[in-house]
Amino acid sequence: MSVVTRFPPSPTGYLHIGSARTALFNWLFARHHGGRFRLRIEDTDRARSTQDAVDAIIKGLEWLELDWDGDIVFQSHNAERHVAVANELLARGQAYRCYASPEELAEMRIAAKAAGSPVLYDRRWRDRDPADAPEGVRPVIRIKMPLEGETVIDDLVQGPVRVDNAQLDDFVLLRADGTPTYMLSVVVDDHDMGMTHVIRGDDHLNNAFRQYHLFKAMDWPIPAFAHIPLIHGADGQKLSKRHGAVGVEAYRALGYLPEAMRNYLLRLGWSHGDDEIISTEQAVAWFGLDAVGRSAARFDLDRLESLNAHYLREADDARLLALIDPLLADRVQRPLSDDERTRVAAGLPGLKTRAKTLVELADNALFYIVPPSFPLANAKAAKLLEGEAAALLADMAIEIAAVAPWDAATIEEALRAAAERRGLGLGKLAQPLRAALTGSNASPGVFEVMAVLGRDAVLARIAAASKQH
Ligand code: GLU
Repeated sequence: MSVVTRFPPSPTGYLHIGSARTALFNWLFARHHGGRFRLRIEDTDRARSTQDAVDAIIKGLEWLELDWDGDIVFQSHNAERHVAVANELLARGQAYRCYASPEELAEMRIAAKAAGSPVLYDRRWRDRDPADAPEGVRPVIRIKMPLEGETVIDDLVQGPVRVDNAQLDDFVLLRADGTPTYMLSVVVDDHDMGMTHVIRGDDHLNNAFRQYHLFKAMDWPIPAFAHIPLIHGADGQKLSKRHGAVGVEAYRALGYLPEAMRNYLLRLGWSHGDDEIISTEQAVAWFGLDAVGRSAARFDLDRLESLNAHYLREADDARLLALIDPLLADRVQRPLSDDERTRVAAGLPGLKTRAKTLVELADNALFYIVPPSFPLANAKAAKLLEGEAAALLADMAIEIAAVAPWDAATIEEALRAAAERRGLGLGKLAQPLRAALTGSNASPGVFEVMAVLGRDAVLARIAAASKQH
């Protein structure tokens, strides 16, 4: 059997990170088995579906590099087929027309509540003679669910899950206006798209029991189900906006790399021994549903940050430069010059080991483009320039001017010798230098910073810093 999975978002908002994890698991499962991963936009709720949401979902998946096979299926385009299946179920005697009025349904609901029954519709049209149909009333079509016994689904994550059939309603397949319901559309599309595995959040487990009987009523093969526990916030509640950003796009804007996000989402609910850093190649090789946990995973921003820091360190400099270029241009409100780009690129090896996000990386790289303005806004750095420091820097400028060749190793040698001559620890020199050159008390190694900035910029910044004091 060749595996087919799917990601079927409803386009009513951004791509939620919980949905992104569902997409990732489906993608990994398909790739692991050499199968197909399909994308279906469940846009049958025309009032709530928007093109912006469709675009956001597609952009989010593309950013995460979760590629789908074949064309995107738009569920609304299959409405005729859904209607045809409802009619076929009628013809097979597996469904029936129901003429109950809204008032009758309201009464039934009250009665069901009073009786503590989860079945809200009392099946009054199930066996009634169609000749009784009231004049001028357009019926809905309902499925005939089994009245006795129980339904057991061997869920690949939850294990066997069961429900008493007496709990299951004869749910509506086709509304009175002739439009198919969500439950019908999902099953028909899953069948027509050849789905072998349905992997989704466990908030859909209740639907699975209903969908199971719909597959059966059509004599269609029933896909394997895998319901994964939802993601919770640190407080144990279902992840929502209250917990901060929940859209994939927001994480992109916050400066996370897609591979870090994938690694992070993978570990939200799936494990491979104690491994934390798992490349996508490894994930494809190792992924299976047996290692999906049964309890809710907790969203933990610190973990995402530390994974992102790891992937930033590993990332290719040219790629990072391209990613922070627009962020830097935004900060200086103009495009970068080639010289500036070259300087930032040269500084990247030192910068990328110190940043947790692309945003932080851009902020930390800014001093390579914009000289600090004195007095420094950073209080800790300003303190490093107080007292003796300014005079010391002015004095150092003469020695720095003479360093040749201009590279980090030679600069370091010269500064160490200068510190020694003055009977000072290296820090006493390096710290004010760092403040003068970067405007900050934390930066890449000061020799590296000097080498990248170039002698002229270094001398100009030292002069500006000592003039202020
Ligand atoms: N469209 C549904 C959702 O966005 C997915 C349903 C399913 O996976 O079967 O939650």
